[in-house]
Amino acid sequence: MGMKGKSGRGQFQGSVLLCLVLAGASQEEDLEALRGRVSRLVGLGYRKAPEVRRLSAEDLRKQTERQLDQGYREHLGRLDRTLSHFGLLQEDEDLAGTEGESPGVGAFYDPPSGALYLVGSPGQDAREAEGILVHELSHSLLHQHFPDLWKRSMEIEGNEDARRAIMAVIEGHAEWVREEAGFSFERRDGPAQGAPSYWMAQTSFPYRWGMEFIRKVAESGGEDWQARVFSNPPLSSEQILHPEKYLGDRVDWPTRIELPDLDLGSEALGRPIGSDSLGEFGMRFLVGERAAAGWDGDRFVVYEEPGGGTYSVWYSVWDSEEDAREFLEEYSRRFGVGQAVESGQDEITRRTNDRYSRMVRQGSDVAVLRGVPESGLPAIEELFRKVKKTELRRAGESPGNPGGGGIGELLKEFPGQERP
Ligand SMILES: [Zn+2]
Repeated sequence: MGMKGKSGRGQFQGSVLLCLVLAGASQEEDLEALRGRVSRLVGLGYRKAPEVRRLSAEDLRKQTERQLDQGYREHLGRLDRTLSHFGLLQEDEDLAGTEGESPGVGAFYDPPSGALYLVGSPGQDAREAEGILVHELSHSLLHQHFPDLWKRSMEIEGNEDARRAIMAVIEGHAEWVREEAGFSFERRDGPAQGAPSYWMAQTSFPYRWGMEFIRKVAESGGEDWQARVFSNPPLSSEQILHPEKYLGDRVDWPTRIELPDLDLGSEALGRPIGSDSLGEFGMRFLVGERAAAGWDGDRFVVYEEPGGGTYSVWYSVWDSEEDAREFLEEYSRRFGVGQAVESGQDEITRRTNDRYSRMVRQGSDVAVLRGVPESGLPAIEELFRKVKKTELRRAGESPGNPGGGGIGELLKEFPGQERP
């Protein structure tokens, strides 16, 4: 579910249609004034003034097409099938189509070149355009001082939830600067109307929840909160949704999970098409806010068979046995299809034609096999025995007491899983 290879477009976009209010003689002065405002709010100076380039809406559309043709369409196709397997997308929903239609990018920041791109479009609101420019200018300033944060956000592979948290810091901060600079308005960017609701939520998460998170950190994070949150950022959507799990004395870092290679029997002919972590954000979509709370880590692998069918192995860790039980109960209630073969409190097996789904809870962990052949069912025991869990929690490590080595060291613990 990683979005690597997508470059700046879509990730760091400014939004909406941007009126070229800065065209003409006053452009440089206006830009300088806005840069000064951003600088004061962030408490850092620009190492150099970012270059501002212009791009026509038509060129932007072509650029998107090129990215889709250069492997991004295939990536989205695999993501489509992975998310559909979990019920996060409907059969007829199509991410590549949605991306191709994405409307209204008004500006975006391009990390590799350090340039801001303004996308020309007539008839826009001048104030909104300036606000969007402030958003992009703060990206540029942040990137000049914390290049690692940006590098990591592009590199994280196979842990969409950690990437989502870093994106929330980046976008949330730029939104916070925009509001603090006096440009307050409801953003209208995001995927085209009618895009899948999961995709809409995923796209707006870093802006909406990221800004809430940054506001909380700004209120209670002490004087140098900005430097601390950028060098030691949250690593799960759980921490973004619940800032106290990042700001508190005992920081709730996620548990990293490595799945063993399982023998699911000779009838299981699938190849992996996706391996990732749904995080509390994804869990909310599946089981609702209540049952998703208490998440501490998860990892899945989805396999696709030659005929197009999919099956999966999924392991999740919860804060308590009670949280694990609640998840199992809610998940099986919502997604338990087929005929019940076994329906205990902590072990549930169901059958649809010749395929089986099995969920088992042990302590505060839950393992799920979904759509596997009967021969694969015993593998769930092996999964419990061989799964590797690493606590990312370190003594005393919190933004108020950064005992660890910052983002670089933390992310060593999140090496991307093998990309299918
Ligand atoms: Zn942005």
